[in-house]
Amino acid sequence: MVIVGAGPTGLTAATLLAQRGFGCVVLDRWESIYPQPRAVHLDDEVYRILARLGVRDEFAAISWPCRGLRLITPEMRVLAEFARDATRGKHGYPEANMFDQQQLETVLRANLKRFATATLRGNTEVTAVAQDSGQVLVDCADRSTGARETVAAEYVLGCDGANSLVRASIETTVRDLDFAQRWLVVDVATGADLAEWEGVHQVCDPLRAATYMRIGKTRYRWEFRLAPHENADDYRDIATLHPLLSPWTKAIPQTELEIVRVAEYTFGAQIAEQWRDRRIFLLGDAAHLTPPFIGQGLGAGLRDAANLAWKLAGVLDGALPPTALDTYQVERKPHALAMIRRAKLVGTVMTEGGKIGNAIRRVVAPRLHLLPGLKDQILNSETPALHRSELVARPRFGRALDGTLCPNAVLEDGRRFDDVAASRFAVVTCDQPEETQRAEITRRGAVLLVARSGTTLHRWLRGGRARAAIVRPDGTVLRTGRELQAVCTALPDFSGTHLAQPGTEP
Ligand SMILES: Cc1cc2nc3c(=O)[nH]c(=O)nc-3n(C[C@H](O)[C@H](O)[C@H](O)COP(=O)(O)OP(=O)(O)OC[C@H]3O[C@@H](n4cnc5c(N)ncnc54)[C@H](O)[C@@H]3O)c2cc1C
Repeated sequence: MVIVGAGPTGLTAATLLAQRGFGCVVLDRWESIYPQPRAVHLDDEVYRILARLGVRDEFAAISWPCRGLRLITPEMRVLAEFARDATRGKHGYPEANMFDQQQLETVLRANLKRFATATLRGNTEVTAVAQDSGQVLVDCADRSTGARETVAAEYVLGCDGANSLVRASIETTVRDLDFAQRWLVVDVATGADLAEWEGVHQVCDPLRAATYMRIGKTRYRWEFRLAPHENADDYRDIATLHPLLSPWTKAIPQTELEIVRVAEYTFGAQIAEQWRDRRIFLLGDAAHLTPPFIGQGLGAGLRDAANLAWKLAGVLDGALPPTALDTYQVERKPHALAMIRRAKLVGTVMTEGGKIGNAIRRVVAPRLHLLPGLKDQILNSETPALHRSELVARPRFGRALDGTLCPNAVLEDGRRFDDVAASRFAVVTCDQPEETQRAEITRRGAVLLVARSGTTLHRWLRGGRARAAIVRPDGTVLRTGRELQAVCTALPDFSGTHLAQPGTEP
């Protein structure tokens, strides 16, 4: 398997495949991690993916729970506050977590090294990708020596970012979702305490929209929308940045503020129409691009990798039919699109409309929680259920647990659901199974959990009008029902698949 791109998406896909014993070569044009300021937030659903990779403690050490989002006026008056649970919620982790993408990538690279079957080759530019019925040929060049090579692969995962060459190779069209704003992104280090509320501050101002947040013990991030006549070169040092930062830093001497990075980005929104062509898949920014207003771009890439890796392993092991790979785009594309639309909506609500927009925001923002549609978009940290597919038995109409994530509940023995399921299929049931059912579930390589009345999993199942559920290795509910026997007919046989436990040596 060849993975093009060693960003967070490629590293996650490589680790998940390596855990299942599959060899992969990750190729990246750069020797080291991309040095510009990028992601700073991920949610509790994505934290579960990091834990499955085996880096829960490492991520906890470099991240910072965030208390939510405040909309503020240019004069720093709070218009509205959307709280996030900074303790362990439904998924077992803080709902919002601040970090620095480079530190996360450092952790992911170090973790991948634990797997002998995975190789990361930096300084390697992929120049062409082509496939026939049996394999994919990846042309690449060593950037230091110029030596050219062609690597043959059974599958190729295009995790090569927004300007993806792999995407170009499958000739899919990219749908422009009509969003373009230029922003200045500034990372500052200081030992001084800014003594601000520990959450994201969004300045709602069409003239100078801005975002501020603390991303580590001594690290802070600001993002400022640029006016048409401005660019990043106008703001390279503390003297020119001071007027922008001063609402938060006025009490701190400028000598105590170290500018770590300054970059200019055009925040855009786009989605590839096709995410797969036979043996080639697109993941992460190669498949979708979102403005970062709700901090979900990197998370979407990790969700892609978590969705695809176990299916690919299952097909290669013979545990799933090849059609299982079609479910990747069916499930992930509507989810990614919904999150891009949510980010666009939040961005537009916070930054557009001129003086009239500001006036409306002052009246409406404090009452946002009263508007049902918007409330779901902004207040709710939960992301949509996955679309119905061969591996999500969601009904066409009505609500169901199918396609949603099973809670990472604390079980009766004190362990969490994810630690017990450990990236395998799980069957959760309110009823005591018969011995033959118990034996069959175990024989298929799945974990059986009997949820007693009063427990979180019991309440969860009954709240979804179900008595039994199959939970996939990525934590998504495949199928629910009232009868265990009927539900279990959909349980794949993963008994022959190899799996290194997260957190243990492979
Ligand atoms: C200012 C800003 C703030 C953001 N904030 C957040 C946030 O808070 N939360 C969040 O979830 N997301 C955020 N994002 C988005 C996040 O940074 C991206 O979604 C994420 O980096 C995408 O990861 P990826 O692995 O898919 O792609 P990338 O990180 O772009 O990695 C792609 C890799 O492919 C390599 N590559 C490309 N072409 C080739 C080639 N031809 N040959 C070899 N290698 C190649 C590149 O060198 C690169 O290493 C933010 C982005 C920006 C710009």
